[in-house]
Amino acid sequence: MFPRISPWRRRCAPLLLLPVLLGWALAPRAEVEVLASIKPLQLLAQELVGERGQVSLLLEPNASPHDYPLKVSDMQRLNNADLVLWVGEELETFLSRPLARVAPENQLSLAALPDLHWPRYPEESQHPEEPGGHDHGHHHHGRDPHLWLDPRNGAKVARVLADRLATLDPDNADYYRDRAGALVSELDELDRSLEARLEPVAGRGFAVYHQAYGHFVQRYGLNQLTAVTESPERRPGARHLYELRQRLAGAACLFTEPYYDMSAARDLAQELDLRLGELDLLGASEAVTDYPGLLDTLADNVLECLQADS
Ligand SMILES: [Zn+2]
Repeated sequence: MFPRISPWRRRCAPLLLLPVLLGWALAPRAEVEVLASIKPLQLLAQELVGERGQVSLLLEPNASPHDYPLKVSDMQRLNNADLVLWVGEELETFLSRPLARVAPENQLSLAALPDLHWPRYPEESQHPEEPGGHDHGHHHHGRDPHLWLDPRNGAKVARVLADRLATLDPDNADYYRDRAGALVSELDELDRSLEARLEPVAGRGFAVYHQAYGHFVQRYGLNQLTAVTESPERRPGARHLYELRQRLAGAACLFTEPYYDMSAARDLAQELDLRLGELDLLGASEAVTDYPGLLDTLADNVLECLQADS
C-alpha cells in the first residue's frame, strides 16, 4: 500500500509553497554586517551604517584588546561578517592569524590607512620597564595604536569606511557617504571645542595608567608626565615604581582605567598624594553611546581631575 495523499493536497501543494516563494522574493536584501573588534570602532561604524545594517562587537566593551582568547564562535563571526573592522596587529594581536584567513575585501585595518595622524612616541617607552619581562606585542611598531583618540583620525576612518560600505552595498552608497560627510563636520567641530576646553589645563602634569593616550595628549597639548605601565595587563615592577615616583613629582592627577586591577596605581596615588581620576578610552561605560561622546567624555574626565582646586 502506498500512503494515501488526499487529492486536495496533491492539487494544492504548489500553492502552499507560494507564500514561501513570495516571502523570499519580497524580503529586503541582506543587510550589511559589520563586526568591530572593540567598542570605539563599533561606535564609528554605527555612525555610518545607521539603520541600513548591523554593527556588532567582537569583544565585550570592557575586555582588553591587548590579550584576548579567541573562541570558536568568534572565528565563525569573523568568517560570516561582510566587513571586520580592527585597528591592526599592534593592538589586537590575537586577530592577526584568524584574519589571515579572511578575504581582504572583508576586512579593514585602520592602522594601515594612509594619512592618519600619529603622535611622537614618548621617549620613556624606549626603555623596557622590566628586563626580560614578557611582552605580548603591545606597541610592536613603536607607535601608539589607540588611534581613535584623535578625532581627525576618526574623520579619516569615516571617509574610508563609507567607501568600503558603498562597495559592499552599492544600493545605499549615497546614504553611507552622506552620513560620513555629516560625521566629519561634527568631528571637526568637536576637535575645535576640545582644543578650547582643554587649553586651560595644558600645563598641569598627570600620569595615566597605560601608555595609550598619545593621540589625545599630543593633539591637545596636554602634559602627561608618565604612565604607570606600558602594557595594561602587567602590574608595574618595583624598579619602574621607583622611577614613577621621581617622574610624578609635581603631578596633579593620576588617571586609572576601569578595566584592570588598579590597586598598585591607587596605592601610588595615595602615597604621593595625587588626585585620582578615571579615563575610559574604550568607551566601555553604557553612558557612552556614540563616537563623539566617547571623546567628549574623555575630555570631561581629564578636566574634572585636572581642574579641581585650580
Ligand atoms: Zn592599550
